Amino acid sequence: MGDFVNVAEIFGKNVFNDTVMQERLPKKVYKELRQTIEEGKELDPAVADVIAHEMKEWAIEKGATHYTHWFQPLTGVTAEKHDSFISAPMSNGKVLMSFSGKELIKGEPDASSFPSGGLRATFEARGYTAWDCTSPAFVREDAAGATLCIPTAFCSYTGEALDQKTPLLRSMEAINSQALRLIRLFGNTTSKKVTPCVGPEQEYFLVDAKKFQQRKDLIYTGRTLFGAMPPKGQELDDHYFGTIRQRVAAFMKDVNEELWKLGVTAKTQHNEVAPAQHELAPIYAQANVAVDHNQIIMQTLKKVASAHGLKCLLHEKPFAGVNGSGKHNNWSLTTDDGINLLEPGKTPHENIQFLMIMTCVLKAVDTHADLLRESAADVGNDHRLGANEAPPAIISVFLGEQLEDVLEQLISTGMATHSIKGGKLRTGVKTLPDVAKDATDRNRTSPFAFTGNKFEFRMVGSRDSIAPPNTVLNTIVAEAFKEACDILEKADNFDDAVHDLIKQYASDHQRIVFNGNGYSEAWVEEAARRGLPNIKSMVDAIPAMLTEKAVRVFEEFGVFTRAELESRVEIQYEAYAKAINIEARAMIDIATKQIIPAVVRYTKALADSINAVKEACDADVSVQTELLKKTSLLLKETKDAHTKLIEIEGQAVAMEEGARQANFYHSNVIPAMEALRAPVDELEMIVDKEMWPMPSYGDLMFDV
Ligand code: ADP
Ligand code: MG
Repeated sequence: MGDFVNVAEIFGKNVFNDTVMQERLPKKVYKELRQTIEEGKELDPAVADVIAHEMKEWAIEKGATHYTHWFQPLTGVTAEKHDSFISAPMSNGKVLMSFSGKELIKGEPDASSFPSGGLRATFEARGYTAWDCTSPAFVREDAAGATLCIPTAFCSYTGEALDQKTPLLRSMEAINSQALRLIRLFGNTTSKKVTPCVGPEQEYFLVDAKKFQQRKDLIYTGRTLFGAMPPKGQELDDHYFGTIRQRVAAFMKDVNEELWKLGVTAKTQHNEVAPAQHELAPIYAQANVAVDHNQIIMQTLKKVASAHGLKCLLHEKPFAGVNGSGKHNNWSLTTDDGINLLEPGKTPHENIQFLMIMTCVLKAVDTHADLLRESAADVGNDHRLGANEAPPAIISVFLGEQLEDVLEQLISTGMATHSIKGGKLRTGVKTLPDVAKDATDRNRTSPFAFTGNKFEFRMVGSRDSIAPPNTVLNTIVAEAFKEACDILEKADNFDDAVHDLIKQYASDHQRIVFNGNGYSEAWVEEAARRGLPNIKSMVDAIPAMLTEKAVRVFEEFGVFTRAELESRVEIQYEAYAKAINIEARAMIDIATKQIIPAVVRYTKALADSINAVKEACDADVSVQTELLKKTSLLLKETKDAHTKLIEIEGQAVAMEEGARQANFYHSNVIPAMEALRAPVDELEMIVDKEMWPMPSYGDLMFDV
């Protein structure tokens, strides 16, 4: 059964990590680099030259021929341009391999083709990539050979962020300084740094590559635009945590190996709820590394799938009618000396620092629920959030029984005197051990759940970058910390002041806490009564980025300028319109060239068969006639909807880009697409399978 893998041996093999740096770099250089990584100290160019040289030597030993500044522009995917290490040939015709500090630190890709939302037009056309030395460089092996990848941030000539990384790093600095300020007040004098840590759980689908190739909708848009439900869906819950099929297991094995070599801590894998759906979770890491690793995970899933004759679908909703895919973003705050600030301990009611931090998070999430919702807005995610599946589009926080009880005590009496205990889980079977039980049960329907010592933000889409949600989380919590510190630093009696502030935040923001069923209609009504926003689509979410409140918080902490926010808003509207436009055009194309002709052939076959039977004898042809009538009727409906969609799509394309156009796509083009899909899906259930021009849902979901 295949070769065995020694994980410890291959882990981090292709990463220029701390061990490698310590081994390879002169002591002084290593120390200076550590200072840059840890304290953000500026790097001396001479030191950069030494690092670059050693990095190159190391990469060449790993077989690397090229290097690339690896960055995350606002396209949602990563970008790279490869340069080989060779320098100009010498007089003897040979070449030397070179890589300078300058090349390591700064790159200048032709930035003009990346979305900038007008930023470059207003300022300057140049874009620069700058080395993010806090996320380690790595050598990636693929068909191109081996390439040294250097994680970078991407900015304009005047320093505006053109990527996902820059604002994230800025937000990490913001929360670091405010969190330090807060814990100092509680007597912590030893921690030097507070870092947001993130563990994203990645969901995906796997389908057979040959079948994928026969679906133009999957090829062009990543999701199926037509498709009737198969007789079986996910109703039996037999896929979730089920035995992993051998073909998928072989795929997972290779994925893990690739990831481990790149220092990605692939940890958990299992089948998910929908047929053909799976999940992979790494062990959490500091936010910017987690963001990079999540990109590596998505790329690796795709790459390895291809090698196994599979296709990995990262779209949020590849199939209507079964669960879509998301990314649970687990988030916590950890100090450099290993303290998790979200750890309540066994008796949270006594843990005043924890209660202060927790109520600050409540305040942040309540105040900026719209921003958090926006950070998870993605075209594909519209099929999940606020549609008929997890999680709802309304942001609320699940605290669990224990913490909610503490909160209740605080609000009602101003004092929390006890914490509900976890106790033992009694199985009732003598031979089974009684296991310690958590004080709190889980809640799967909450978009923002406290899960023991971290918050889990469950709205993020499977295909989307996790940088924006973490940027928002870091920033809004930094703001809450700052406002608390401003009050507490001035207080005469610290203990009283903390106590009052916790009570005040708990009461002011209790409306965001909800422990019940987030899927129920009753919650939608209750949330409306509480005044919580229910933002159903991406186009409705986008404006949250430019409210006065949003601009203020982002500018205050230097995360985004107003101009950067404006550019992002513009890019989001454009991205939305373009994505829906591609879907509409793909539908038109598939209907014109594949579906309508197939149905015409089928009706002809029916008509021929009616005539043939009539010629042969006078047997009853009512079944064929009935089918022919029904099919012809649906065909007419299809053609009408098709014509209508062409017309509306044409109107949309003619509009000027921006909010109005995106909203037109949302309110007019999408309904026209749905109107075309309905009769086609009905036809799929009638037409001879041999004649249907593409693999069915059943073929795709139950084959791998
Ligand atoms: P599940 O919620 O599915 O049971 P786990 O408890 O295994 O999942 O954790 C899911 C993710 O949360 C993993 O990536 C894990 O590393 C991450 N995680 C665990 N503890 C923390 C923490 N303190 N901060 C951030 N992420 C964490
Ligand atoms: Mg989870």
